[in-house]
Amino acid sequence: MSVRKIVHIDMDAFYASVEQRDDARLRGKPVVVAWRGNRSVVCAASYEARRFGVRSAMPAVRAERLCPEAIFVPPDFPRYRAVSRMVREIFQEHTDLVEPLSLDEAYLDLTENKTGLLTATRVARAIRERIRQELQLTASAGVAPNKFLAKIASDWRKPDGLFVIQPDEVDPFLRPLPVERLPGVGKVTAERLKQIGAQTVGELRGLEMATLEGQFGRYGVRLYELSRGVDHSKVVPNRPTQSVSAEDTFERDMPLSETGPVICRLAEKVWSASRNESRTARTVVLKLKTSEFNILTRSYTPPSPPASCEELTQIALSLRERIGLGVQQRFRLVGVGLTNFREPEDTSWQSALFN
Ligand SMILES: [Mg+2]
Repeated sequence: MSVRKIVHIDMDAFYASVEQRDDARLRGKPVVVAWRGNRSVVCAASYEARRFGVRSAMPAVRAERLCPEAIFVPPDFPRYRAVSRMVREIFQEHTDLVEPLSLDEAYLDLTENKTGLLTATRVARAIRERIRQELQLTASAGVAPNKFLAKIASDWRKPDGLFVIQPDEVDPFLRPLPVERLPGVGKVTAERLKQIGAQTVGELRGLEMATLEGQFGRYGVRLYELSRGVDHSKVVPNRPTQSVSAEDTFERDMPLSETGPVICRLAEKVWSASRNESRTARTVVLKLKTSEFNILTRSYTPPSPPASCEELTQIALSLRERIGLGVQQRFRLVGVGLTNFREPEDTSWQSALFN
């Protein structure tokens, strides 16, 4: 297989940077983009705010505690979407193979490019320069032979950085990395990998495929490949989002009646993430995993799509009533999701309802 040239571009602290660009009073200050309120979460934090430990997706009240002098700005998604479109136009001058992940991130396949620049690194440089010149914003870029490495690379010199992983550098780059750097490895998976002797990617490579498959099912095969720098996934232009979801594993298993606060927090997270979409989600999904590892999902499609975070939360909470297991049952994980995204002008669901 011929070597691909993939670039991952990630705007730096995107929403916060747009706010600082458009309002001189915010420049150089800790800025937190979030709605006010007890259940609100941080959508973005400027680098000045990050110095205090503020991160996106953390509860806004926590951000306030960490950085009392932070300036809170309510998110303005129409404006971020407009800037995002301009960034995408710059990408599209170089390749049609652009896969946006969100408003501020995209993969580009530059194996062939439209401008005749000789290397993907030069294209990445040109794109970063254009974004700076035309939009007065910074972006970080990673260049690598596949998507997952390009994404790790864009994070490597963040903010305002460029990092290149050449095909012959993949091995020495990957081996010393902690397994957490691999896509899909969170705290729980990392802990399980540690127990079977793999804290670094190099150590993970020492494990048999059968061992990994036994532990993690199909994802074990993916881990086996990732640890060897293998990722055949293609850059898919404009893939519409299928779903947005968030889940959490409890520190100790708990009964259904105690899952409320976590469901509220997850719903808030999912609601914020769904604001990145131009389309509207129709269906709410609640997922639970029992202490015996059985996965249950319940979903509900209201007559009109959930229009607020409160509505999403209420539906997610009420879906618990449809779980139907005894009060003795304990659960180890809960998840909340939105699926079934439609264009806002797509009213086919309404006519279906009245047929
Ligand atoms: Mg970003």
